[in-house]
Amino acid sequence: MNIRALEEQLHDAFPEGQVAGEIAPHDCEECFALRAMLEGATWREVPAEFVKANDGSLPLLTQEAYRAFLPAWILQAIREPSEEVAGMLLVNLKHQPRTEGFTPKQASTIIDVARFITANNVWGPIDPVNVDSLAEIKAAWGKIAA
Ligand SMILES: [Zn+2]
Repeated sequence: MNIRALEEQLHDAFPEGQVAGEIAPHDCEECFALRAMLEGATWREVPAEFVKANDGSLPLLTQEAYRAFLPAWILQAIREPSEEVAGMLLVNLKHQPRTEGFTPKQASTIIDVARFITANNVWGPIDPVNVDSLAEIKAAWGKIAA
């Protein structure tokens, strides 16, 4: 799958919407920055620079905010599959699979994203860490994938 097709699939699977509930309830600088950026925004409005500066922040988001804004992190990860955002995303998707509330189509897209990143980062599709990451993400997200 090429990146253009994957981006189209991402836009199709994750409609834009604001989060009505809490974004990141914790009281610290990192969570404050998340609230300041993401409140009243949709995932397509989140700048790449913000995602890069907050590559490890996904675990801080509420489940509702995680579902709404994960595609912003995904978009950056597939554009630069060897960079930190992509590496952190794979770790997040396999070690902390927060699948609650995701649709089958979204889960399938997440598996395609993992396949794309592990096939296109500098380590390549036969690297043991990539193989392991893809297998774990498939196992976690495949339970709800279409
Ligand atoms: Zn915090």
